[in-house]
Amino acid sequence: MSGENPSKLRDHAVVTGGAGFVGSHLVDSLLDDGYRVTSLDNYGSGRRRNVARHDNREQFTPLDHDVREPLPEFDTVDYIYNLASRASPADFGSHPIEIALTNSVGSKHVFDLACEHDATVVLASSSEVYGDPKVHPQHEGYYGNVNPRGPRAPYDESKRFAEALGAAYETQHDVDVRTIRVFNTYGPRMRVDDGRVVPTFITQALEGKELTVYGDGRQTRSFCYVTDLVDGIRRVAAAPGATGEAINLGSEREMTIYRLAEIVIDHVDSPSEITHRPQPANDPSVRRPNVEKAKRLLGWEAMTDLEVGLRRTIDYFRTLTVETNQ
Ligand code: NAD
Ligand code: UDP
Repeated sequence: MSGENPSKLRDHAVVTGGAGFVGSHLVDSLLDDGYRVTSLDNYGSGRRRNVARHDNREQFTPLDHDVREPLPEFDTVDYIYNLASRASPADFGSHPIEIALTNSVGSKHVFDLACEHDATVVLASSSEVYGDPKVHPQHEGYYGNVNPRGPRAPYDESKRFAEALGAAYETQHDVDVRTIRVFNTYGPRMRVDDGRVVPTFITQALEGKELTVYGDGRQTRSFCYVTDLVDGIRRVAAAPGATGEAINLGSEREMTIYRLAEIVIDHVDSPSEITHRPQPANDPSVRRPNVEKAKRLLGWEAMTDLEVGLRRTIDYFRTLTVETNQ
């Protein structure tokens, strides 16, 4: 090809939060399919080692960059997957301003970059936009029940703002924004000390410690395995019908947190018991996505059995030591 750099011929995907749990699995998938990929991450809750396996691939560029700052200049950009944001409720109290600004100012920077390059944006929103829902299961037309001054507000209100800002860029600048509302997702590369329930329970069970169920454990969640989510994200980017839409991505299998604790103890074959701790304020009491829209527009639904996904996740956590996770 007459001296041309072949990497310039590939579509360029920018992944914000590319060194995080979901982002790093997305980077794997994009690189495997031949994309040129740039990861922008400040390594706040992500880990450089999550993407280190790609260091020798010339089509991969990991940049240490905080999306609250203006984004770097690029030659071309075809897709931006905006995943940067701490996502653990444990961080909502310790990093509230960072989270609020990452999802607001950071998303503005992403939409500006998309304007400049006529790129498609996949915006990672969250089931948290539904708050403690009064409609169950949650469909995309439900506006939610969110406390704008509550402990989760820096996260859920900034996700709502990012969605609104994306819609504004669609209206004013005709940017192609596709919003995914991600429900609880788990899998390898979650941090041991992340604070979310799956890594917490697995770590406690592996160490033979009590599993800390918050409240009576009757609150429900629906857990999606990470590679299913990545498949859904990729379909959203590819489907013409996803332009301008908000689409739930999550598992329809709902269970109580108490039942999850029992399943983890069983799968780890652990002597651990279950103990109870106070339930955090505004902790949603139920959560399950209605995924009819994803089925219709993308032909997507979560396929991995919880037991299979948990086994893979437990195997991953077994291989870790606390030292290597720091
Ligand atoms: P994660 O914490 O593992 O990943 C987030 C990544 O973003 C990390 O690598 C972190 O270092 C990076 N980041 C955070 N703030 C940044 C900033 N200002 N600049 C640059 N990088 C920054 O969490 P995750 O579970 O992989 O979540 C990924 C995305 O999916 C997030 O936007 C999250 O809100 C969304 N989401 C995830 C879930 C889930 O269950 N995993 C559910 C709903 C929504
Ligand atoms: N939870 C729990 N024990 C823990 C961590 C979380 O019982 O050690 C509960 C939490 O109160 C919530 C559910 O598990 O009801 C899911 O919490 P997580 O932080 O994983 O995510 P959320 O769905 O709240 O965003």
